[in-house]
Amino acid sequence: MLNPLRRLFSVVEALNLLPKHEYKEAKEKLSGRSGVLQDELSLLEKSTRFVTHELEALHIEVEDKSHSLQEQIAVITRSQAFLERLIDSSHLFIVTQQFDGTILTCNARFENEFKRPTSNFTDLFMSDESRKMFQDRIDLLKGNHCEVIQLDAEFANDQGLPIYLDWTCSIVDDEKGRNIILAIGIDLTQRKRDEEALEWLANNDPLTGIGNRRGFQHDLQKVLDTQRNGAVVFIDVNRFKQINDLYGHTVGDNVLIQIAESLRASVRLTDSISRLAGDEFTVVLPNIKADQLEKFLQKLSEKLCGQLFLSREGRWVEYSVSVGAALIPLHGTTEQELIVHADMAMYQAKKKGGDQWQIFDPSTNDLADIRRDHDLTSLLKQALKRTDLFELNYQPIYCIKSETVSHYEVLLRLTDLNGNPVYPNDFIPAAERMGLIRLVDEWVLDHAISKLATIWEAGTHFSLSINISAPTLQSNTFPEILNNLIRKYQVDPSYIIIELTETAYIENFQMVLTNLTRISESGVMVALDDFGVGFSSFSYLKKLPLSYVKLDGSYILDLENNLDNQVFVESLNKMVNAFGMRTIAEFVEDEVTLRKLEELGVEYAQGYYIGKPSPDLSEMVAGAGFEPTTFGL
Ligand code: C2E
Ligand code: MG
Ligand code: MG
Repeated sequence: MLNPLRRLFSVVEALNLLPKHEYKEAKEKLSGRSGVLQDELSLLEKSTRFVTHELEALHIEVEDKSHSLQEQIAVITRSQAFLERLIDSSHLFIVTQQFDGTILTCNARFENEFKRPTSNFTDLFMSDESRKMFQDRIDLLKGNHCEVIQLDAEFANDQGLPIYLDWTCSIVDDEKGRNIILAIGIDLTQRKRDEEALEWLANNDPLTGIGNRRGFQHDLQKVLDTQRNGAVVFIDVNRFKQINDLYGHTVGDNVLIQIAESLRASVRLTDSISRLAGDEFTVVLPNIKADQLEKFLQKLSEKLCGQLFLSREGRWVEYSVSVGAALIPLHGTTEQELIVHADMAMYQAKKKGGDQWQIFDPSTNDLADIRRDHDLTSLLKQALKRTDLFELNYQPIYCIKSETVSHYEVLLRLTDLNGNPVYPNDFIPAAERMGLIRLVDEWVLDHAISKLATIWEAGTHFSLSINISAPTLQSNTFPEILNNLIRKYQVDPSYIIIELTETAYIENFQMVLTNLTRISESGVMVALDDFGVGFSSFSYLKKLPLSYVKLDGSYILDLENNLDNQVFVESLNKMVNAFGMRTIAEFVEDEVTLRKLEELGVEYAQGYYIGKPSPDLSEMVAGAGFEPTTFGL
C-alpha cells in the first residue's frame, strides 16, 4: 500500500514542478521504477512523463522564439533611431501633413529654418500664386490623378528671409493607416542665386555694371518689337589705346567705369546702356525724334568728355568720345542696319576730329568711303584677333655689288572673310585714318621679330626690314615696345631695320626723331621708304639717323628709257651716299633696270625681277643666291 502511495505522491510533486518550469527535477521525481504491471498508476506516471517532455520542449521553443523576438525588436529599435537621426541630420526638409496643410511631424532642418509652431504648411509660401498652385496640385494627389507632385517656390523662413525650396510630395499611411502627405524639400536657394548671377553676367558687363553686347541686342530687339521710333547711339572713346599704353590698364578701366557712370546719369529710365566691347558703348533710346536726339547727343558728348585724377602721378588724364547715332526706322529696322549706321555716323564724327557727334547722314558725299572704312575697320579688328587673316610676306633685297641677297622686307598681307586679298595700299591708309595702325604695326613687329628668331635658330643670319607707319613712330611707347620684343625673342637688334613709311602722316616730327634716335642707339637700323615722293623727304634725310634710303619705285620702273629719272636717281644716290647712307632702288622688274642701277652706282635693288614677296621665308633663305623671277615681266 505504501509503494503506490509514494508513486502517486511523486507524480503530484512532479506536476507541481511543471508550472515553475523545473522539468529536470520533475523528471527525476518520475524516474522511479514503475511496476511490472501496467496499472492505472503507471499510466499516470507515463502520461506525466510525456507531458513533462512536451512542456519542456515547448518551453525551450518559446524561450528561443522570445529570444530572437527580442533581438528583432532591438534591431528595429536601433534602425528606427538611426532613421530618425538620419531624417533629423538630413539637408532635406521632411514634413508630414494633412491634406489641408496642417503639419503633423517635421525634421530638425525644417524646424530650425521655420521654427515651430508652424501649424500650416501653406502659410509658409511667399506668394499667393505659388500657394494656390500647391493646393491645386495637392487636390490632384488626393483625387488619385497622380502619385507624386513637385513644386518649387519661394518660402519665408523664420526671419522672413526668402528660401527657395523644391518640394516632392506623395501620399503615405501614418501609423494608424490613415492617408497623409509626405513632403520632401531640397534647398535650391544657392543654386538659384548662382543661376541669377550667371544670368546677370550673360547680359551685363562686370567691369562697368552696365549691359554687354547680349544685353544691348536684347534691349534693342525689344524696342524694335514694340516701338515705332527710337535711336541707337554708338560711342567710341578717342585714343583709348593710348590711355591704356601710357597709364596702364587700371587707369583705362577707371576711364571706362567713369564713362559708364556719366552715361547712366545722362539717360532716361527707359533707355538702355551697354558696353559692346573694349571702349565701345551704346545707348538704345526708345521713343525719340530727330530734334530731341540732337539735343541728347550734344549733351552726351559734353558729359562724356572728362578727366580722371591719377593720385600716384599727381596729374589728370583727359579723355573724350566720338558719338554717332542712327534713327529707327529712318536709318534701319534691324539690329545689323542700325549698329552699322550708328557706327558709321561715329566714323563721320571721328573724321571731324573727335569729341564730336553726328547723326547718320546717308546723303553725304563720302558715304562710300565711310562704308569702306567701316568694313575695313571691322575686318582689321578681326584680323588682329584671329590667326588666319593676316600673313607676312618677305621680299628679298639684293646687294648689286656682292651679288647676294642681303635682307628681306616684311610685307603684310590681308584676306577678307571670303578669302579675297585686300591690298596694303587700301587697308594701311584705312588703319591710319581709323586709329588702328599702331595695333597693326605691333602685330607685324611681333610676328616679324619672332620669325627673325626662328631663322636664326635654323642657323641663317638675315636682317628683316619692317614697315612702321609714322603714327606708330610718334607714340612715346614705341621704343619700349620694340625693345620688349627684342628681349622676348632674344634677337640681335642690328638685324632689324625699321622702314619709316607713310611720312605724310607725321604730325610730331620731334617725337619721331627722338624715337628713331633711341632705337638706333640700341643697334636697330632705320630706312626711309618711298624717298623722292612727298614734300618733306629731303629735310628728313638730313635730320633722321638713317642707314638706308629707298628710292621710290616710280623713278625706277622705266629707268632705261627715262633720262630725267636716270639723272634724278644718280644725283639722289650721290647725295644719300654723301650722308653716309646706302640707297635701295624699289620696283626693279627686269635685268636692264638692274644693270642701269649698277651703272648709276646704286648699291641695292628690290623688285619682282629679284624676287616677288612670298610667305615662305625659310625656302627663300635656303636657296638664297639670286634667281631672277619672270613674274611681272
Ligand atoms: P613699300 O614699303 O614701298 O613696299 C613695296 C611695295 O611694292 C610692296 O607692295 C611690294 O609688293 C611692291 N613691289 C615690290 N616689288 C615690286 C615690283 O617690282 N613692281 C611693283 N610694281 N611693285 C613691287 P605692297 O606689299 O602692296 O605694300 C604697299 C605698301 O603698303 C608698302 O609699300 C608699305 O608702305 C605698306 N605696307 C606693307 N606692309 C606693311 C606693314 O607691315 N606695315 C606698314 N605700316 N605698312 C606696310
Ligand atoms: Mg617698305
Ligand atoms: Mg616703298
